[in-house]
Order: sequence, then structure tokens, then C-alpha cells
Amino acid sequence: MICLEQGQKLAPFTSQMLFLCFVCFPFSLATQVCHSCFRHQANLHRCAQCKFAHYCDRTCQTACWDEHKQECGAIRKISKVPSENVRLAARVLWRIYKDTGIVSDSQLISVDQLQDHVADLPEEDLKQLKTDVHTFLEYWSCGRQQHSADYISHIFGIIKCNGFTLSDQRGLQAVGVGLFPNLCLVNHDCWPNCTVILNHGNQAAVSSALHSQRRIELRALGKISAGQELTVSYVDFLNLSADRQRKLKERFHFECSCEHCSQHIKDDLMMAAAESEGNKPSADQVKEATAFSKDCLEKIERSRIEKDYHQVMKLCCECLEKQGNVLADTNLYKLRVLSVASEVLSYLQSFPDAANYARRMVEGYTKLYHPSNAQLGMAIMRAGVIHWHAGQIEVGHSMICKAYAILLITHGPNHAITRDLESMRMQTEMELKMFKQNECEYHTMRDAALKNQPMVSSS
Ligand SMILES: [Zn+2]
Ligand SMILES: [Zn+2]
Ligand SMILES: [Zn+2]
Repeated sequence: MICLEQGQKLAPFTSQMLFLCFVCFPFSLATQVCHSCFRHQANLHRCAQCKFAHYCDRTCQTACWDEHKQECGAIRKISKVPSENVRLAARVLWRIYKDTGIVSDSQLISVDQLQDHVADLPEEDLKQLKTDVHTFLEYWSCGRQQHSADYISHIFGIIKCNGFTLSDQRGLQAVGVGLFPNLCLVNHDCWPNCTVILNHGNQAAVSSALHSQRRIELRALGKISAGQELTVSYVDFLNLSADRQRKLKERFHFECSCEHCSQHIKDDLMMAAAESEGNKPSADQVKEATAFSKDCLEKIERSRIEKDYHQVMKLCCECLEKQGNVLADTNLYKLRVLSVASEVLSYLQSFPDAANYARRMVEGYTKLYHPSNAQLGMAIMRAGVIHWHAGQIEVGHSMICKAYAILLITHGPNHAITRDLESMRMQTEMELKMFKQNECEYHTMRDAALKNQPMVSSS
């Protein structure tokens, strides 16, 4: 458990805690993401020796060499690249072997003191663990230092229940897994007072000596008083309390007894039935619509995997029709369908329809999420962009402003997404001014811009 001491500050915008990181990533992304700063980038340079690691430039490669050196040799030795868990485990052990596990003064616990929960693993996972240990022992090379299979299992167990998934600079794609010892000491609460975000360093300074290192930041979501425990959430709040508890039990092996779980706070809203002018649907109607939605969401997911987007939309419309006046706008099943529908329609560039679904989704989310929740901020941002594309500049601009305010807290002013939002906010503000001055000219300009044609002046 971590608390603040008297006078210690963890205010939004300013305080960042630095965590040691051990990071590796999925093989499929190896050529698209810089192995040092985790940015998605075209034209990365490949490590000439292992031909596996990729970097933006020399600065990134040099910054990472200390971590990559032994990995580079090991990959060449077995002439194949093992899975990210094996690579992460090796990185952790190379580091422990080199620095006895404590790497900086600010580190509060050594890696191998963390809990592994290997004893609680189900049969399937134990099988995988055995395979990983085998691959590891083949891959491992560090002088005469040998480890028992039990110790390696312990390290894999630690990674499994303490590993933190990292996403790229736009927050769109998971690019790696890291282990941040201090972070493991921050307990979970479904309604936390802090959030964790990967800061990719300062893009503008990439080629200069000021290239700032990537780091994990623990950011306060509001005022926290001395002695109050710092908490983060390990799961998305948008699940019923029983489902969140089940997920936490499966993945992290503990029973969540936070206030929101024990008092089932917001569960009623997430399962609510629609109510219009005092008319309530019967319990049977709600039951039927819920069962239909569950079934339909599975079909939607299958069609989405097959990239059959027209089928996805057909199913979404059917499902929303069925949910109609039976399920409330905060009902999770309705929100899940709205989310898919807006995402698919915006992919198909049907922005006005996508905007309609996105707006309803955001209204529901706002009633359920903590006002400074990162997922809420990202959802409002996407909805704002969709409205902007749909030419609904007023709503678009106001959503982008709202998202910006949330991300200033959850991601900080220097994060790439916050910076993107800042420029979108200025751009939409300018367009909104233009729109208010001359609506007709605004639409001509927009249409021209969308068709990528030279603009025709109407004056
Ligand atoms: Zn880089
Ligand atoms: Zn290499
Ligand atoms: Zn909970």
C-alpha cells in the first residue's frame, strides 16, 4: 500500500513518479514500433546484429543499448526470437544479475520479491508456463549464472500477475508489456484516485540531447490528502461489479472489496430498463431484450473478426431496434452496440450516422464513468472527431474541449494524444468562428477540403 506523506504532493499536471521498466513487445509489431520509445513510426532502422530490434534513430538505439545488449546476443545464439514473456523474463534477470534487483534509490521493492501466484494457476496456464520455461533456458545466457526451473517459473508468475500492458503514442494499440516494481505496490480500486499512463518522451526533442526517456507516470485524478491510500484500477469500470470481481480474481488472484463492488454502485444503471412517461417494460421484456443482446453481441464480434462490416451494421441495427424502449441508455448492452456501430460507421466514412451513435454512447459513458477517467476522455475524443468529420462543428468542438480537459489530467499536457487534442481544439475553434460568421461559405470550404480540391472563394 502506498500513501502520501504530509506535504508530499501528487497533483495533476506536475507530479510524476518514475518507475524502472523492463519492456518487450509482441513480435508482429517488431518492425513498426521503435523498441526504445514505443512510437509507431514508418522507416525504422534495424539493429544490424540481431535484425530484430528496430529504432527511430541513433538516439533511440543508444538509449536502449544497455537493455538490448544481452538480448541481441541471445537472439543471435538461438537464431529465433522467443515470445515477449520470455524476452521480458530474460531482461528482468539480466538486470537483477547486474544490479541485484534494486536499480535506483526510488525503487521500493526488488522485482523477485513480488507475488507470483503460480500455485493458483489453472492447468492450461501451467502447461504454457512449462513451455515458456523450456524456451527461456535455451535462450538464457549470462556467463555461468544458472537458474532452476522453479525460479524461472516464479519470474514468469510475477510477469503474469504484475505485467502492465503498454500502448503506442496514440493509445490505440498495445505494443508491449512492462514490469514496474513500484507500480505493483499501488493497490486496485474500481473507483481509483490515480491513473497510470506511459509517457513516450518528448517528440520534439527526439533528435537532440534532450530526448527525454519514456516513463510510466502515476497521475492523481484529483486532490488526495496525506495518509490516503493511492489506488489505480486494473480493470475497465464498465462491467457489473460481479464481472469486475471475477476478472480480477482470474487475472490478479484477489477478491475486490472496494466500495463500488461491495455496494454494487452503478450496477443498477448498467442493467437499467428504459422508462418513458412512467411506462416501464415488464421484467420478461427486459430479460428477453438482454438475452437477445448477449447473443447478438457474440454474432457482431464474429462478423467483426471476419471484417464483414455490412453484416456488423445489420446486426447492430437489429439489436438496437430490439433494445429500443426496453433497455435504458446507460444499459451496458446498449452501450456496447453503440460503440461498435459508431466505430464501424466511421471506418466506413458514414460520419453523420456514426456521430449519432457516438453521441448516445458518450452520454451513457458520462453517467457511468468517473469524470476524470482516461477511457471516458478517449471515447469523447473519438466522438468529437467523428462529429467534426460529419460537419457538426459545434458539437465536435465542444466534445474535443471536454476530452482535452480530461486528458490534461489523465495523460498530462506533454503526452502525444493531449498535444493532438490541443491542435484539434484550436483548429475546430477556428472553424467554428468561420461557421458562425458565414455558414454557407463554411460548408463550401468544408466540402472542397473533403474532396481535396482547390478552394473556391465565394466573395
Ligand atoms: Zn524511438
Ligand atoms: Zn540487436
Ligand atoms: Zn471493486
